[in-house]
Amino acid sequence: MHRFADKVVLVTGASRGIGRAIAEAYLEEGAKVALLARTLPELESLADAWNRDRRRALALECDVTSRESVESALSELRASWGTLDIVVNNAGISGRTPIDEDALELWQKILDVNLTGSYLVSRAALELMTSGGGRIINMSSVLGRFGVPGYAAYCASKHGILGFTRALALELAPRGITVNAICPGWVETDMADKGIRETAEVLGITADEFRDQAIAGVPLKRFLDPKEIASLTLYLSSDEASAITGQTYNMCGGQIMN
Ligand code: NAP
Repeated sequence: MHRFADKVVLVTGASRGIGRAIAEAYLEEGAKVALLARTLPELESLADAWNRDRRRALALECDVTSRESVESALSELRASWGTLDIVVNNAGISGRTPIDEDALELWQKILDVNLTGSYLVSRAALELMTSGGGRIINMSSVLGRFGVPGYAAYCASKHGILGFTRALALELAPRGITVNAICPGWVETDMADKGIRETAEVLGITADEFRDQAIAGVPLKRFLDPKEIASLTLYLSSDEASAITGQTYNMCGGQIMN
């Protein structure tokens, strides 16, 4: 299937985890994909694998918290392909920021990457999204739906993404651009591993024990594969989803039902 053969896509946080799976899914379906993250070698190894036949993957070093870095990546994209159809704001970081600890620096960093980064990338990208039917997909989390003690900054950033999504959907509706968000539950990635280890330490149990507790809290009794988040992302950016905007989709094995 080449559903995205005539599309140009930008994916942030494409070096590993969910972002990498999303980028690969678009490439498999024929899109040209700009891969953004801070670690260029990881992006280049992915791009090289896809560029053997045709130049369809562009590795762009970018820190989404820096306006200059974002603008520079977008001008490289403009110089290469001149247009943009789909933006996936996926880059994110996590970390504990308990209220009794002095965690201001980490609080700020989490909000900068997860929330302000999505704003900066969307703003810069819009200049290239002029051909109509554009799509913006923002990666939130089930922690954008409920709170978890010790993770106030992450929860605030992911709740914030939902407000950003709804407001932007209204602002961009007149231009025919849809904006939606995805709220994943536990997905098998480095970030989930780190969260498991961190929480296990706080609870005084092993990582395996906490992982079992986490799985027990998921009705489908498993973590998700990054490819499952990729397939929802592709659907929301497809022509079939042209009537969907301002929505948030839980993909979490049934952890949340509303
Ligand atoms: P991950 O494996 O840690 O990957 C995070 C990605 O973000 C990496 O490519 C990283 O690349 C990039 N990144 C981090 N800071 C960046 C910055 N300042 N500028 C540009 N890129 C940056 O995480 P993941 O699990 O795939 O998570 C992807 C998204 O899904 C995040 O928004 C996360 O909050 C969300 N999510 C994950 C889960 C889960 O269970 N895994 C659940 C719900 C939501 P560099 O380090 O090279 O920059």
